[in-house]
Amino acid sequence: MIGDIDETLEPIFHEVVRRNRGETEFHQALREVMSSLGPALARHPKLLERKVIQRLCEPERQIIFRVPWQDDQGEVHVNRGFRVQFNSVMGPYKGGLRFHPRVYLGVIKFLAFEQIFKNALTGFAIGGGKGGADFNPKGRSDDEIMRFCQSFMTELYRHLGRLTDVPAGDAGVGTREIGWLFGQYKRLTNSYESGVITGKGLGWGGSHVRTEATGYGLVYFVQNMLEARDDDIHGKTCVVSGSGNVAIYTMEKIHALGGKVVACSDSDGVVHDPAGVDVELVKEIKEVRRGRIEEYAEHRTGSEYQADGNIWGIRCDIALPCATENELDTDGAQALIDNGCTLVAEGANMPATLEAINALHQAGVLFAPGKAANAGGVATSALEMQQNAARDMWSFEHTEQRLAAIMDNIHRCCYETAEEYGTPGNYMHGANICSFLRVGQEMVALGLT
Ligand code: NDP
Repeated sequence: MIGDIDETLEPIFHEVVRRNRGETEFHQALREVMSSLGPALARHPKLLERKVIQRLCEPERQIIFRVPWQDDQGEVHVNRGFRVQFNSVMGPYKGGLRFHPRVYLGVIKFLAFEQIFKNALTGFAIGGGKGGADFNPKGRSDDEIMRFCQSFMTELYRHLGRLTDVPAGDAGVGTREIGWLFGQYKRLTNSYESGVITGKGLGWGGSHVRTEATGYGLVYFVQNMLEARDDDIHGKTCVVSGSGNVAIYTMEKIHALGGKVVACSDSDGVVHDPAGVDVELVKEIKEVRRGRIEEYAEHRTGSEYQADGNIWGIRCDIALPCATENELDTDGAQALIDNGCTLVAEGANMPATLEAINALHQAGVLFAPGKAANAGGVATSALEMQQNAARDMWSFEHTEQRLAAIMDNIHRCCYETAEEYGTPGNYMHGANICSFLRVGQEMVALGLT
């Protein structure tokens, strides 16, 4: 079962929990990974001898800083900024920045920890990191958000570098915020070092497909899962939680491949549109007007808005949680199972609880963990870094082909590793073992660092 830790690893897990009290999301991510590693360590005892697990669980560096800023009325606010530089054995720290009021060290640490394994799965030379702030951008003016980004970067810039640490966006940080962050970095360092941050706009060093990459990559991964079983997305009914960057481009690609998304959501409620979600309307509401998903039902006949609705209660073949951590619990998983859902793939980071994952596995529902299924975003960030290094820009088609090939490789690695280690079809074990072995073996090769 996911979450059951081998007895050799149990004391290590408890020691990490003791040393990182109260960081529940980090503990959860750790438990999820550790519960896969028993069989891998039995075949590679050197990794235990060299204390690779203990070293992996301790971030190389954690930076916490004050972010003071002024609102439009001149009132001063103080937020807390974070950057966890977790592991650089594979390459410079790479991982997004999240601006959300629920951000604290435990959230950033779980995200950075997951990022180590996700980045290893991409096959690129990038290490794991993550950052953010407990800043709530909702209801703030453009000027306020710009001032916040400038203050945030005024501290963060000294810890970044093309070969050191390369952030990107995450929830609450899109191309607009990356622009303000990069602008301030450029000003402070007097250098146009575009390789220092990814998710940039196309006119100033960005890459085609980066905006779409996490959602498109997720759907490619789902397509790979189905193809391995002689099936495909065409004709499938899907629900996609959230209506942000990942959700929007997930829905767009599902429709392009002949599936139908009948529901999406935000933190206030759910829209159910049995005729198929109008993705352009969602983009208009969320990307252009920065409004609420409730507005969708006002503009689209036949659709229904359910305040505080339960998206997992809507019948579907495929469910794609693309909003936030722990949004899919046991009740949600049971509702999906009862309604005949056959595949769940995580677009968000850790959206399913351990109990939900086990319920899905036991019911024979195919399940893909976020570290594999949503890796298309960071993989395309690595493609952006390649283009920046060469001062080049590839076409949309070429970049998307690269993304599709990367997702195919990640799928193969998870699928084959799960078979090799005696748990065929268990993508969680496959992803954890495959990525852990890549990172662990490199940690041994580079010595005690
Ligand atoms: P956005 O901020 O663009 O969108 C998040 C969406 O989720 C919003 O619609 C938000 O609604 C909604 N949401 C938040 N909490 C809930 C909730 N409890 N119930 C329902 N909806 C909710 O973020 P992203 O799309 O970029 O990120 C989403 C997830 O994907 C995160 O877990 C992130 O870490 C992960 N991810 C993102 C990548 C990327 O490239 N952007 C890459 C890999 C993973 P509201 O507006 O009400 O807050």
